[in-house]
Amino acid sequence: MQYRITSNRWLTYVALAALGITGTTSILLAADKSSGAEPKVVDSGSAGGPPSDAIVLFDGKGLSKWQSMNGGDAKWVVADGFMTVNKTGSIRTKEEFGDVQLHIEWASPSEVKGDGQGRGNSGVYMQGRYEIQVLDSYNNKTYFNGQAGAFYGHFAPLVNVSKKPGEWQTYEIIFHAPKPSVEGKGGEPGSFTVFHNGVLVQDHVPIQAEPTTAAEFKGTGQKGPLILQDHGNPVRFRNVWIRSL
Ligand code: MG
Repeated sequence: MQYRITSNRWLTYVALAALGITGTTSILLAADKSSGAEPKVVDSGSAGGPPSDAIVLFDGKGLSKWQSMNGGDAKWVVADGFMTVNKTGSIRTKEEFGDVQLHIEWASPSEVKGDGQGRGNSGVYMQGRYEIQVLDSYNNKTYFNGQAGAFYGHFAPLVNVSKKPGEWQTYEIIFHAPKPSVEGKGGEPGSFTVFHNGVLVQDHVPIQAEPTTAAEFKGTGQKGPLILQDHGNPVRFRNVWIRSL
């Protein structure tokens, strides 16, 4: 005879106790405690965050958390609460991260220049390896796994929710890094879940260990910097925060 936990567990416990199956009851009670410690209290902050347990990577005032790819000062222009790509090269965080939740806001140039991959191109690289594409994809055709919200070179976004050129847009990115293979044991794919302007565009898609060809970093690793790409277009960023998972 089998006893299953119903929506009213106490009724089940009472029924089990009445039947003298106290051992089963204590197992069920023990299982109840397996959820671990009480969840930490976090203040979510105002709309768009940052929550109280986030690391703020850019608050609109300066680039102290960032550096150039070769380790010098990050030289993107900071003014009016945002930073702007200015052809001085990609920038990377000084700190390195593993699995994370990332919030970032961006805007493609309001003056439309170029087309396809040449229009409002930038990118958000997790661990410097895996790019979520930033592109002006408003009425701008390109290959599907290269448009805004794509896991570049791998997965097109589920939908195109791009706003008009110049308008601020958001990415919420949940990133789990692939686990490298260790001595005879195969690795494990990571995953991307991405919301673009609040709409799901990557639904837990797998990340294989091999980075995209456009990656700044090769191989796999426990951690790596967040990189913002300089693709030569004056894309803007603001309100960047990250939480380690
Ligand atoms: Mg890009």
